[in-house]
This record gives sequence, structure tokens and C-alpha cells, in this order.
Amino acid sequence: MTGFVRDFAEGDRSQADLLGGKGANLAEMCRLGLPVPPGFTITTEACRAYLRDGVVPDGLDTEVGEHLARLERQMDRRLGDPSDPLLVSVRSGSKFSMPGMMETVLDVGLNDDSVNGLARHGGERFALDSYRRLIQMFGSTVLGIEPKVFATALAELKDDRSSVDDAGLAVDDLRELVSTYQGLVLQHAGRGFPQDPREQLDLAVRAVFDSWHTPRATFYRQREHISEDLGTAVNVQAMVFGNRGASSGSGVAFTRDPATGASGVYGDYLQHAQGEDVVSGIRNTVPLSDLIELDKPSYEELLRNMAALERHYRDMCDIEFTIEAGKLWMLQTRVGKRTPEAAFRIAHAMAGEGLVDLDEAVLRVTGAQLARLMFPRFDDAVAKQSLTVGIGASPGAAVGRVVLDAGTAVTWSERGEDVILVREETNPDDLQGMVAACGTLTSRGGKTSHAAVVARGMGRPCVCGAEALLVDLVQRQVQVRGGPVLHEGDVVSLDGTTGEVYAGAVPVVDSAVVRYFDGKAVEDPVVDAVAALLTHADGVRRMEVHANADTPEDAARARRFGAQGIGLCRTEHMFLGPRRVLVERLVLATNDSERDAALAEMLPLQREDFTRILAEMDGLPVTIRLIDPPLHEFLPDLTQLSVEVALDDEQGRGNPTRHRLLAAVRAAHEQNPMLGLRGVRLGLVIPGLVAMQARAILEAAADRLAVGGDPRPEIMVPLVSTVGELARMRQVLAGVAEEVESRRGFAVPHRVGTMIEVPRAALTADQIASEADFFSFGTNDLTQMTWGFSRDDVEAAFFPAYLAEGVLAVSPFESLDTEGVGSLITTAVAKGRQVRPNLALGVCGEHGGDPDSIQFFESAGLDYVSCSPFRLPVARLEAARAVLRGDARR
Ligand code: PEP
Ligand code: MG
Repeated sequence: MTGFVRDFAEGDRSQADLLGGKGANLAEMCRLGLPVPPGFTITTEACRAYLRDGVVPDGLDTEVGEHLARLERQMDRRLGDPSDPLLVSVRSGSKFSMPGMMETVLDVGLNDDSVNGLARHGGERFALDSYRRLIQMFGSTVLGIEPKVFATALAELKDDRSSVDDAGLAVDDLRELVSTYQGLVLQHAGRGFPQDPREQLDLAVRAVFDSWHTPRATFYRQREHISEDLGTAVNVQAMVFGNRGASSGSGVAFTRDPATGASGVYGDYLQHAQGEDVVSGIRNTVPLSDLIELDKPSYEELLRNMAALERHYRDMCDIEFTIEAGKLWMLQTRVGKRTPEAAFRIAHAMAGEGLVDLDEAVLRVTGAQLARLMFPRFDDAVAKQSLTVGIGASPGAAVGRVVLDAGTAVTWSERGEDVILVREETNPDDLQGMVAACGTLTSRGGKTSHAAVVARGMGRPCVCGAEALLVDLVQRQVQVRGGPVLHEGDVVSLDGTTGEVYAGAVPVVDSAVVRYFDGKAVEDPVVDAVAALLTHADGVRRMEVHANADTPEDAARARRFGAQGIGLCRTEHMFLGPRRVLVERLVLATNDSERDAALAEMLPLQREDFTRILAEMDGLPVTIRLIDPPLHEFLPDLTQLSVEVALDDEQGRGNPTRHRLLAAVRAAHEQNPMLGLRGVRLGLVIPGLVAMQARAILEAAADRLAVGGDPRPEIMVPLVSTVGELARMRQVLAGVAEEVESRRGFAVPHRVGTMIEVPRAALTADQIASEADFFSFGTNDLTQMTWGFSRDDVEAAFFPAYLAEGVLAVSPFESLDTEGVGSLITTAVAKGRQVRPNLALGVCGEHGGDPDSIQFFESAGLDYVSCSPFRLPVARLEAARAVLRGDARR
């Protein structure tokens, strides 16, 4: 089939590229025989051609005419027919859902004549109300008139008639409103509201195409990493009416609870309303379960359809529906967005129900979701001052200052404040504010309102429909009905799970998932789901997960969180705090005896550290890295010391020791300390340092062996650039090993390897492998040196511009640059294994815990990833997902 237009009946769900997500799912519902109002989809290809050339592609208008004619035959009504008009909706629908970001025009086909035809069948009030909605929507969306122009006219009319809501307006009032709106169109757009229904349709289609490039849509795509090139499809569909009196209404439904993942249907219903009224949160909805009282047959049919959709999609679906005069219509479905809690519970439950297997269940949850479940929550044990309760729309705890508009949210957050965006309701223009805020609070709307959907997508806490809040933008304050007044800047705490809003900053506690990993008894269905899916993941993954841990406490936690070893113990971290002076003394020593004294003091401390860590990790490998202190972090600051010494001299307090220290610090000062005397270079320059550390490690291991332990030390040399450095270190290590063996009377098994964190080391990995039992990729330094970006300064300096300009989509320090740094890694893997086929390979830079990077490490064939203890569960899950995704591709 060619051409730019498809009837719904012609497609299926696999065609989201061409038909957009909405169009493909409408087609699928048709295939399932569900009651979908007929219509057709104009493809994304047509949109791309239009956006490229600035005019609709040849043949599109003719095709739309043909499909429209077919639709008219199916419905037995004609677009704009004065006696009984067909009306259509014109909606955007791109491949990836972009809720509320693009345009929609409803009721296309109404004009001064056909409004009478509609009145004959649906009543005058309904017809006139639909007409004024069309002029308003068309005026703002297609003709670019400010929406408030219409809103003001409506408010004035209601004021004049002393009516609080639309229903209070008489039929004649609506007729007057239509005429006022038409006048406003003429005045603001310089043309009348088009009376030709086909012209309405064509202009609406173009407006939807154009809305791909609105600033808010562009911003949304950047945030969600959606390509700019996709374009949107346009769905033209016969209108059905939820605003046709009490036997009509519209709703949104989920086949399971999208917030908690509990089974049972969830949703909101609004009688006598169109779908937009439900989502906008303008009127408060009733729970879907109330529909059984209002219209039992439709309720039961809806439940049957929902069950059919969930079985068919084998996933939680969200659904939009309308009931027109007792007849149910399915308007939209898609696999529903959900919170992390819900993602785990639903995947686990569906595996239990046999809808999916456990592999599929593991693929349906992500490391990012798991990471969010490990965030802290509010402390139950602390007394809190509840201000009000709304609907818990997106879970989590948020504490911040009240801000009342998106602009303020952005400005305050840029100056480092945590803010909570408080609005009556949000709309897509609030998106930047929601991104800047740590939580969103609205006084209107339910679980499916804009604020709720967007917040859930972002994983930020949100409380909606807190009706007791009166947001006053003039006084810049929020009156809590029957309670205090909150001024902009006051601190509040939101619980997005329960919907509670508290005054002040409520303290937060660990998550239930973290408590579970810490070995505490926790009864929580989310924890059960996480545990079950991680157990399965552990059986699936090929790579091991190790931890970066420098203390016995971290090592113990790492083990509880599933570590299969320590991949990086940074020994310089053992000299932070009061022990720092030992490093200072060592580096600044001016003669052998000063240096040996410092080393002698370090030895027992190190041995004690290593013994405790080896004990915690008994039976598992512990990779201990020789000291790698960037000297600027360990030595006194040159400028500050110079000033102090000068002041002392001036005040007659000068002393020779301080002068010697200053001279030594000056001598050791480096312009680029991160490229200076670090890592193995220090080991080569300071005699005795490496031997002291090796002795501490091997003696600690010998002590453990002596008491029946199973220590598995691995000694790792940092910042190697050439095999010569490594060979010298090995010699020193071998000497110490022999000495320890002869003193203790038994050998201490251990391995010696190197970090690969200098590009030259990666490029000469074959030579280096001849001296190494293992490689561990230090992707922090490897990224720094490959890009020439300073890892300490880059984020503050030019990086934001790089991200804003789109030169980089994400920081290469967060997510591995697979093309550049990744290519060095694959080179090193190949060269290393060529020389030493059983070379063990791991990664211990920050990327070891990053989901996207883990996918790369799996494909590069590494044996393990190493990351901070808290990221271990994420790494376990992602390592399994990497295997499963790889399988799926084969
Ligand atoms: C690295 O460079 O990736 C690494 C793990 O070492 P450090 O972060 O300690 O420099
Ligand atoms: Mg490093």
C-alpha cells in the first residue's frame, strides 16, 4: 500500500513509525473488533514532507478527500451537512507519546448552517456549545489567537449572567457567545472563521503538523531524547460526544493502578463532558467505579474491553473512552505509563499470572526505575503538621519552597533552591517549571490530569486535586481552606504516594527496598516484586557485579546488596581526614629517614584496614588499588600557605619548619595535578611506598589465612601508560611477596593487574597484558584523557552550553561515550586477550553503575562491572537486561 493516508481498518500496532502510536493502536483496536469511531490516519511521512518542503505533499488533499468520502459512507453522514452533519476530531499522534505537547482540534465540520443540523439531533444547547468550542480551539490552535482572548469573553459573559459554570448559561447566551467568538476571530486573525468544512479540516491538519515545532514540543523531545526528525501523524476520526447530557460522559481508565501497580481497574469519569475536560482537570472527576451506578451496561462492556486489551497487549493499558447517549466508544489505548513501584509490581504480577515469562518481566523494568525506589521517603515516626490531603499522583517525597509559576520555579531552582510548584492546574506551558521543581502540587485534577501524567513520566513526586488550596497569584500566596496561608517561599513537604501535604520540611528515611537489601524484614509488595525479579536477573546475567568500596562498612553493605567482590578499593581514601598529614609528610619528606618514618606509620594502619575488608569479603576477590592521590587534594594549598607564612613573618612569628613546608609545597606544586604526579608515577618516584602497601596487603591476607579465612587480594596499579611502569611495579611486588612468604612460611596467593585509564595504555594493551593478570577500565580518567575535558571543572564551565547546543546529548562522564572511549575499550579488550586469553576484564569508573553503559560493557565482553554499593542492584538488573536485549536482537 502506498500513499499518505490509511483507514484505521488498514493498519496494526506494529506501524507506530508510520501511523504514530495513537494511530497504530486505534488500528489494533479495530482489528480486535472493539467499538472505535471510524476514521483515518495521515502518516508521519506526509508530516515530514510538509515540514521539509513547507507545503503539503502532492496528492495528500486528494487522498484525504477519498478517505473522507469513505468515512462519510460508513457513518452515513456528510462533513458539514446542514441537516445531520458528520463532525471529526483532528489529533496529533507521534511515534512516542508526547502528552499535551501538540495540537488537537475537535468538532471540525460545524458552521453556521450545520450547527442547526446538529441541534436537531442533539439539542440546541449541545450544538451551540460544540460550535463555540470549535471556534475557540480552531481560533487558538489554527489561527494563532491567544487562548485568553476567548477565555476572557467567556468569563465576562458568565459574570454578566452571574453564573459560576458553563451549565448556568442559557441557550441564547451560547448563541451570543458563538457570535462574540466569531467577531474575535475576525478582529484577531484578520479573517473570518472558515465556513467551508473541508477548509477547516485541511487547516487543522496543517496546524497539527506545525505543532511539531512548537517550543514546548521541542523542549519535551530534548528532555525525553526523542528525535526531531520523526514528525507526527494526524488522526481524523468521527466525533462522538460525551457532552450530550447525563447519559453521556468521558473517562480515562487503566487496567491496573498506574501509581501503585495494584490489580483492579482504575480511572476517572466525568459525566456530561468531553475527554479534554477529564484530562485538563478543570472539573473534578468521579472514580471509574462510580460508573457502575450511572450506566451499568457500558461499565461492564468497558471492563470486558479493558480485559481484552490487557490480554492482547500483555501489559497494563491506559484507555480513553466516551459514552454517547449510553453507547460506549473506545477512543484510544496504549501501554500505560507507570511509576517505578507500579512497573515492578505489574511485571511481577503478570509473570505470576502467566501473561509474560520472567525474562520478559525483567525487560519491563529498568535500572533507572529501581534506582528511584531506593530514594528516601518521609519518616513515619516524626510528628508532622498536615496542611491538606490531595490525590497521590506520583510517588516519592519532596521538600521545597512554594513557588506559584513556572518562571519562578526555574529562577529559584537555578539559584540552588529546592522548590515545589503549586498551581491550580498545570498545562504544557508549565513543563519547564515542573522540570525545575522537586515536586508539583495542584488544587484541581485527578490521577490522569496533566500534572499527574507529566510528573509520573519524570519520576517526580506530585499531589493533585488538593481542593482545599486556593492559589492566589495576585497576593502570591496559597490559602489553605480552614487553615494557614502559605506565602511564596514557605517550605512544604509533599508525599506523592499518600497525597499528604505537610507544613515545613519533614525528615526523610530510607526506602523499603533499601531496608530489604540491608537485611531487615519488610512487608511490601513492591519489595517482593523487586526481590523476585532481581533473583531472576541474577540467574540470567553473564557479567558479575563488584563494588567500589574503601571501608569495611561499605564492603559489608556491598555484600548485602549483592556484590560478588570489590572491584576498586581506593587506598588514598584511607588517608582522608586526620590521616592526611601522613601523605603530606611522605610526599614532602626531604630525606630517607623522614620518608621511612612516614611509611612506618602508615603500614599498621593500612594492614588493619585491609584485614577488616578482607574479612568482610571473605571468599570473594578484593581489588586493592595502590595509592593514587591527586596531590592537590592532599597537600596544603600553595597560595593559602604562602599568605599564612608571609603574615607570620610580618608579625614576627615566622618559623623555619613552616618555611621548609612552603618550599616543599612549592616544589611539589603542579599546574595540572590531574596530569601530574599521580598513580603509578608516585610509586616510581617515592621509594618504599609501593612496597609498604604491598606488605600491608599481603600481611593482612596472611593474617586472614592464619585464622582460616579465605582472602582473595588483587593488587591493582593505577594510571599506567606504558608496560615499563607495570613491569617495575611487578618486580617490587614480587620481592615483597617473597619476603612475606619466607617470613610467614606460606605463600599468599594474589593477582596483580592494572587499571586502563590512559589512552596509551588502551592502545598498547597487548604489551601491558604481558605483565597483567587483569585489566580494570578506569573510565573516569579514560574519558577525561580521551576527550581532553577536565573531570573536575568541565561540568561548571562550558558543559551546559554543549548540552544546550546539542553538541552532546549527555555528559560522557555519566554515560559512556561508546564511540570514542568505547572504541579504546574494545581495542584494549581485543589486544589484551590476544596476548593473555584468560585476562580478567572489568570496569570501575562511574560508568559501571550506569544502565546505558552497562549495555555496552556486556557487548564488549567484560567479565564484571564495579560500582558504588547503592548502585549494585541497578547493575544486577541492567546486566541481565543487557543479556536479554542482546538475545532478542539475535
Ligand atoms: C577512573 O579513573 O575511572 C577510576 C576509577 O579512578 P579514579 O576515579 O579514582 O581516578
Ligand atoms: Mg582514575
